[in-house]
Amino acid sequence: MQKQQELYSGKAKTVFTTDDPNRLILEFRNDTSAFDGEKLAQLERKGMVNNKFNAFIMQQLQQAGIATHFESLLSDQESVVKKLAMLPIECVVRNLSAGSLCRRLGVEEGQLLNPPVFEFFLKNDALHDPLINDYHILAFNWATAGEIEHMKQLTFAVNDVLKQLFEQAGLLLVDYKLEFGRFEGELLLGDEFTPDGCRLWDAETRDKLDKDRFRQGLGGVVEAYEEVARRLGIALA
Ligand code: ADP
Ligand code: UDP
Repeated sequence: MQKQQELYSGKAKTVFTTDDPNRLILEFRNDTSAFDGEKLAQLERKGMVNNKFNAFIMQQLQQAGIATHFESLLSDQESVVKKLAMLPIECVVRNLSAGSLCRRLGVEEGQLLNPPVFEFFLKNDALHDPLINDYHILAFNWATAGEIEHMKQLTFAVNDVLKQLFEQAGLLLVDYKLEFGRFEGELLLGDEFTPDGCRLWDAETRDKLDKDRFRQGLGGVVEAYEEVARRLGIALA
């Protein structure tokens, strides 16, 4: 697998083309951002921790029958993935109230949500990723009706697998964001699953072990990600 040119550099990852037109290399950088890129920092080891964390989670999902773009770990900070035509949509499932749900609806953090809440957001930093629904997606042709149903089904299937996985590690999966893309007529889970894109709380103390540590200036960001990795048995060093 030969790395070729840079295709796209986002806020936390860089995407490279390869000699295989159907494969990309994702480089997980140490860059961290919050509030649509307004708060930025470089966090030592984060790229490596997230790359290995993501590989572990994607493999767990694949073993549970959820098709993902992940192919293999290439180096400490790089993975090989299938090249997807990404949909401009973020899918969020929430098991407990937190973040923008609390701000939007004026509800307190930490309420159990039964049933879990599903939300779509438009992936657009300039517009601050606005909340959208099925009708917006269809009217603006961002995905088909079949893809909408498939995204919901897959996002909830991920919840079934990961809620249990984290529970066994003494962690509450509060919420998470997924992105999907098309590959040879199929919808696959793309992008990443790491503590940058989900909320994880210690089940007993409710300590935050995710990117809220960065957003809220709590410190110990990468140390918290490493603690989660350790509890899941992910080899980092
Ligand atoms: P952002 O775009 O939010 O700043 P990143 O820094 O994580 O995010 O950049 C990674 C980019 O790569 C995102 O735009 C994501 O949608 C895209 N991406 C992730 N996985 C794939 C894939 N398998 N094929 C094509 N693009 C992908
Ligand atoms: N999320 C993300 N990228 C985004 C927006 C949200 O990874 O651009 C994740 C976030 O980390 C959380 C979940 O999606 O786990 C729900 O985020 P929320 O809508 O509460 O937004 P926030 O308060 O993080 O802005």
